[in-house]
Amino acid sequence: MSRFWNEKTKGLEPYIPGEQPKSKKLVKLNTNENPYPPTRAVRDAIAAANCGDLRLYPDPEATALREAFAKYVGVKAENVFVGNGSDEVLAFAFDTFFEKGKPILFPDICYSFYPVYCRYFEIDYETVPLKEDFTVDIDGFRKENGGVVITNPNAPTGIALSRDDIEEILKANPNRVVLIDEAYVKFGAESAVPLIETYPNLLVVQTMSKSHSLAGLRVGFAIGSAELIEGLNRVKNSFNSYPVDRLAQAGALAAIEDSAVIEKRCRRIAATRQGVSVALRSMGFDVLPSKTNFIMIHYWNADTEAMFQYLREHGIVVRHFQGPRIGDYLRVTIGNRSDMRRFLDAVEEYIS
Ligand SMILES: *Cc1c(COP(=O)(O)O)cnc(C)c1O
Repeated sequence: MSRFWNEKTKGLEPYIPGEQPKSKKLVKLNTNENPYPPTRAVRDAIAAANCGDLRLYPDPEATALREAFAKYVGVKAENVFVGNGSDEVLAFAFDTFFEKGKPILFPDICYSFYPVYCRYFEIDYETVPLKEDFTVDIDGFRKENGGVVITNPNAPTGIALSRDDIEEILKANPNRVVLIDEAYVKFGAESAVPLIETYPNLLVVQTMSKSHSLAGLRVGFAIGSAELIEGLNRVKNSFNSYPVDRLAQAGALAAIEDSAVIEKRCRRIAATRQGVSVALRSMGFDVLPSKTNFIMIHYWNADTEAMFQYLREHGIVVRHFQGPRIGDYLRVTIGNRSDMRRFLDAVEEYIS
């Protein structure tokens, strides 16, 4: 605490990102990164970007990137907003659409950055408990609110709602923004993007970090009606007109053009997830049904923290969230096949 901080800064409780260990020898299964490197086209596009041009500001509207992404998801460029990672896009969205005195709703277990944004932007919120089986309770989003935020598929549970379920929530909240955070949608869930034509209150947020292997490049998107996108641009242009740099625009554009290859890799990760889930269940683990590139797992008679430490000592880093219900589980990112072999071997050793 410093006497130079203002009152707001003194009151913040920042989000704690997953550890980025220095050692490359560790099997890193803690922050849901993609195990495969960016495709060759992405590397070529960044290498070919003219370094001399870095003296110039980038396109503030990221026009080429927005147009390519719009075509990829089947909307118009006016329906797309681009930011410096989807965390920034989410921050702009909270600041644009939600406010004090009108509590927004999100599940009690979901992406833990949302309450941090609420404190930062001074937005009130209430949480809706997940059901006993860790699925989202749709009926909990029918009450009076100032907006709704859903991670779909949910993190850290990995469980997805169908597009019909999302539509139910939209129908129940015609006068509020319903924000669907689809960070993991490419690993097997249904996207809500086709609903934006019918629901002007729907904002879908996606990222290149997980599916497109570009967590280090920082590119995220929002997709919604032109009026929602215009609101985001008003806030962005009151804060930072150039959130996406030239290299990021070039690399992300190439990644979108390479989506066929990238989606094939996402399917490979989903297949690895299935294999690992089957193996863990046969060892007696409870594995939540995931549509993402991670799984939440629990062993009936293990001390979860002790298992976490054991894996760590054996060179495998996973994530252990504290808190009621999820504190009994470990979240494990799906890595490549050899990473997962090492993980399964270590787990088997631990429980025997
Ligand atoms: C990883 C993640 C994000 C942030 O992604 P970036 O685009 O890398 O900022 C947002 N929401 C959820 C649910 C995530 O898991």
